[in-house]
Amino acid sequence: MNLSSGVGDDPDGVNANRAALQRLVGGIHVYSRQNHGTAMTVVTREILGDPAAPIQTMPQTADALISDVPGVRLLIQTADCQAVILVDPQKRVVANVHNGWRGSVANIIGRTVRQMVAAFGCDPDRMLAAIGPSLGPCCAEFVNYRSEIPEALWPFRMGRHHFDFWRISRHQLIAAGLCAAHVHAAQVCTRCNPHLFFSYRAARRTGRFATLVGLDTPGTAGARVGSGDCVGP
Ligand SMILES: [Zn+2]
Repeated sequence: MNLSSGVGDDPDGVNANRAALQRLVGGIHVYSRQNHGTAMTVVTREILGDPAAPIQTMPQTADALISDVPGVRLLIQTADCQAVILVDPQKRVVANVHNGWRGSVANIIGRTVRQMVAAFGCDPDRMLAAIGPSLGPCCAEFVNYRSEIPEALWPFRMGRHHFDFWRISRHQLIAAGLCAAHVHAAQVCTRCNPHLFFSYRAARRTGRFATLVGLDTPGTAGARVGSGDCVGP
């Protein structure tokens, strides 16, 4: 079920897929126009406009979505790039970050943590992070890494041309103030699992799956996240 309207798929099919996902999960599904940059959108009640529209695409380009509005689901579409979820369970703020290799180079996840601190008073020490299925070190080959990847990230190189972007994200999250025990990674490679995920490297012309995060509407039952005190690295 491709969820991207930007990969040449039949628009009616994409809309039907998005509607099916919205019915399954509920809430207001917020998509963004991703372009491997570092722009962020804070999704407020005002920006949502018509609250009766259950599927919305933010008009501006953004590779990170942040919200404290209960019922909103932030969606990031990927096919090898990482979606990185951030949660401050005490301030009740969530974020979803589109983190491809360009995002890693620009440290968009560190920038998003800082934005959550600046805009909502979040505390990285109690924040939780989850790195979704994405290109693993097995398949993240960058033959031209000397011109594409800054030298500061070369310590994460494995073998001749492969990079461990899961470890880069973990490193950036901890540098942003999260404790290691609060950083979780699926550690599932999209290119190695084409029966489960879309993979740009595997297929080039392909769809996008989505990772979503949202806060429950107060008073409704549902999954809860907890965050213990950070005990050591
Ligand atoms: Zn792989």
